[in-house]
Amino acid sequence: MIYVGCHLTVADGYAAMAEKMTGFGGNTFAWFTRNPRGGRTKAVPREDLQALRGRLEAEKFGPLVAHGSYTMNLCSANEQTRLNGLDMLRQDLERMEALPGNLYNFHPGSHTGQGEQAGIEQIAQALNAALRPDMKTVVLLETMAGKGSEIGGTFEQLQEIIERVRLREKIGVCFDTCHTWDAGYDLAGDFDGVLRRFDDVIGLERLKAVHFNDSKNPRGSRKDRHEKLGQGQIGLEAMKRIAMHPALSGLPFILETPNDDDGYIAEIHTVLGWFGG
Ligand code: FE
Ligand code: FE
Ligand code: ZN
Repeated sequence: MIYVGCHLTVADGYAAMAEKMTGFGGNTFAWFTRNPRGGRTKAVPREDLQALRGRLEAEKFGPLVAHGSYTMNLCSANEQTRLNGLDMLRQDLERMEALPGNLYNFHPGSHTGQGEQAGIEQIAQALNAALRPDMKTVVLLETMAGKGSEIGGTFEQLQEIIERVRLREKIGVCFDTCHTWDAGYDLAGDFDGVLRRFDDVIGLERLKAVHFNDSKNPRGSRKDRHEKLGQGQIGLEAMKRIAMHPALSGLPFILETPNDDDGYIAEIHTVLGWFGG
């Protein structure tokens, strides 16, 4: 079985996102915790939260997957950018505690010239500063394409972050299919092998969510340009094998494909169709 959905905007509240996703035919969704310019998050009204809980239960939603801001860089060479990032992370995690589902995904960061090792240390430091033992949220490191000075283009880098986090039981991974492909992993030719590698390096038990995207570019291009399902270089057959892989059963699959609402509805329908639903 599978949970599938796409990104929605939080403008009209959380329950409204669940309602919209039900209309799309999906049963999970993602949202950016703040607008792309990185503004502050708003408090969650109690009535909205209650309505959300009701809808998630009635429609049997899977885990929801919040996404941290693109502007949050926990390992920038610029100290002020790092401190702003830590602020965002703390506020976002505070907000997440009020919400059900409790998966929070973010891009580990770009070291902007400091080098991979310094970047890894700073990301882990920020997580150690932000995580508290009483938090219910699972924080997901996203697998990245490895473009520029991005950290997270290899499973090894993600594991190096994880092993430096004291409360590492609260850390998971969000597997972005476009990014891992662009980073060089052969999702189309040998997805079993990719998962074996993931299991050896990180451990499959940390895999909590999937960003389900085809890629405009060839494997290893390090580009990070998402494509609609089946219209990219990974291809529909491989995407189907990924979605139906037993190791990923029950995970939330978030589409981040370049689509309008109708396009997402069609892709959700395609994915659920693979499962006969
Ligand atoms: Fe992302
Ligand atoms: Fe992604
Ligand atoms: Zn991407």
